[in-house]
Amino acid sequence: MATLFIADLHLDPSRPHITTLFERYLASDEMRHADALYILGDLVEAWIGDDDDAELPQRIAVATRAVHDAGVPVYFMVGNRDFLLGRQFADRAGFTLLDDGVVHDIHGRPTLLMHGDVLCTDDTAYQAVRRQVRTSEWKTQILSMPLEARRAFAAKAREDSKAHTGSTMESIMDVNAGAVAETMRKAGVTRLIHGHTHRPAVHRFELDGKAAERIVLGDWYEHGSVLRVDRDGVELRGLAVD
Ligand code: MN
Repeated sequence: MATLFIADLHLDPSRPHITTLFERYLASDEMRHADALYILGDLVEAWIGDDDDAELPQRIAVATRAVHDAGVPVYFMVGNRDFLLGRQFADRAGFTLLDDGVVHDIHGRPTLLMHGDVLCTDDTAYQAVRRQVRTSEWKTQILSMPLEARRAFAAKAREDSKAHTGSTMESIMDVNAGAVAETMRKAGVTRLIHGHTHRPAVHRFELDGKAAERIVLGDWYEHGSVLRVDRDGVELRGLAVD
């Protein structure tokens, strides 16, 4: 039995083959026999509210609900693209919502789970925007706009994000090693799993004299990516598109 982790799928109607891959993987034997599925943020390219009546949210809810109904717990943590996802959709989709930075026991090992963006402390411009948009006032204001206005707003936010990503040094957009160490120390863990940076890897290092691990999940732009954790260890692997 294994616990499965995915993140940064960035599902979007413009990449229908990735949505199909997601549905196929959630219906796979590996998924249906898993201990649990964790989705660590940025499941979609843009989330405009749980009342979105588009096809994609509906397909996601059907796919995750089926995993839940098969007896596999589905945990979801929001990322920077889908932080407006709330309890209403979670209930429909059979998710349990997790706070960023929660520690879960994964096969006997306390494991810190994050989306990953708060660790990118060198990107001060991003962190300033993040602080602004995560307030309940801001969220309430956005969610009170008509769906069409929110769609236009999301499209603009994506353009701004692309411009920022294109003009910011790669190293600035990666996690800060000091922030990683401090966050893991505070949580009292030697294993951290996160996404966001789209740099899949298993980093092994020493934290206060102990062997520690930071596992970064991969994105789903060209193909799928999944982390499998069981008693024997961790395996990070790609999923091919048909
Ligand atoms: Mn992200």
